[in-house]
Amino acid sequence: LLKGQPGLQRIFAAIDIDGDETRIVGGAVRNALLGRKIEDIDLATTAAPPLVIERARAASLRIIPTGLDHGTVTLLVDGRAFEVTSLREDIETDGRRATVRFGRDFCADALRRDFTINALFLDKSGRLFDFVGALADIEARRVRFIGDPETRIREDYLRILRFFRFSADYGEGPIDGDGLLAAMRARAGLAQLSRERVRAELLKLVAARRAPEAVEAMSGAGLLGPLIASAPNPARLRRLVEQDARADPLLRLAAICLETPEDAERIAERLRLSNAERDRLSRAARVMLALHGKPVPPPKHFLNVLLFRHGRESALDGFTLAAIGASSSGRRDAIDFLKTAPEPRLPFSGADLIARGFSGRAVGDALAALRERWIEAEFSDDREKLDALLDSVSRTSSAAN
Ligand code: ATP
Ligand code: MG
Repeated sequence: LLKGQPGLQRIFAAIDIDGDETRIVGGAVRNALLGRKIEDIDLATTAAPPLVIERARAASLRIIPTGLDHGTVTLLVDGRAFEVTSLREDIETDGRRATVRFGRDFCADALRRDFTINALFLDKSGRLFDFVGALADIEARRVRFIGDPETRIREDYLRILRFFRFSADYGEGPIDGDGLLAAMRARAGLAQLSRERVRAELLKLVAARRAPEAVEAMSGAGLLGPLIASAPNPARLRRLVEQDARADPLLRLAAICLETPEDAERIAERLRLSNAERDRLSRAARVMLALHGKPVPPPKHFLNVLLFRHGRESALDGFTLAAIGASSSGRRDAIDFLKTAPEPRLPFSGADLIARGFSGRAVGDALAALRERWIEAEFSDDREKLDALLDSVSRTSSAAN
């Protein structure tokens, strides 16, 4: 960790002067010990934020003062962001956010973190500081709250979700019973959480290595239903992951709770999804409805209809969800087809219709009718058949005029 990140040495050199000390903390230390990929690097320092800024400026480091309210200064070194947070101690909390003052005590900083495995410090000489038994828990792949689980959850109910997320990502064996019990006792507090925070943690949770186990535990404890405002179906996530380990987080979430386009609206609203995410789910749900009662794999013509009507991405999403639990060879055949077959493109344009005397809204109506008739004609590319289609549309539409 120390050797792989030249930017770190520049930060230590800039900030660790006049008796201040900076240490790497949290996920980066944890992941380095586990041999896992290191995402962002968080640092804890005894220097207060204004001093961090002053010293970073003096060393010509790029500064992004994003999280100043929380005592965090982001430093950009060699294109990489390092979050430098001044040591702080909670003095008051209302279950959602804590009032903090800055301190010089690394141990106190460790104690206000969530899980033991997230509270290790590494200094610039490579020395580890373990105030909470983190090393033993990392060794045993055990995700445990620091201190009394229920007390810690009542300080911040997001920790319920983080507990399951980290258990899914880093745990081995059953989920810690004390944590689970505390989460159940405190579950009413989930209602206080902002939808954005829930969304971010939930998408990370379903993406985690052992997401099915964690989601089943959450669901069994009655902790998931309230968050997504519906009865979750965790068994579907397990099957989806078995079938397609690379399914992305939104699809994994959809496996748990998406059946109809109305579900898509409700999930989007509960979790503040973006418009693009909401549309993706509702298109997938429409494909699922279209596939209802169809065999796996569906006839090729039907797969072409899906590609034509819904586009490749939605067809794949919807089929993947609809075919959860179906036999694997049939599933794979259909997915290969949906991935590789060309999307049928209507061989007529508005111009063809205008040339036949259509104008205004009639052009769009006729195109819509043509799409349906071209499906009936099994996407024929036979010139005579296509001309006959155009003729048939012209006749019906002039009859209607
Ligand atoms: P990831 O690889 O998912 O980023 P991480 O450990 O870096 O893992 P973050 O959510 O980025 O997790 O948080 C950084 C650190 O801040 C954690 O390791 C933990 O020590 C602390 N932390 C974050 N959120 C909380 C919280 N809600 N309560 C207590 N400590 C927290
Ligand atoms: Mg992180």
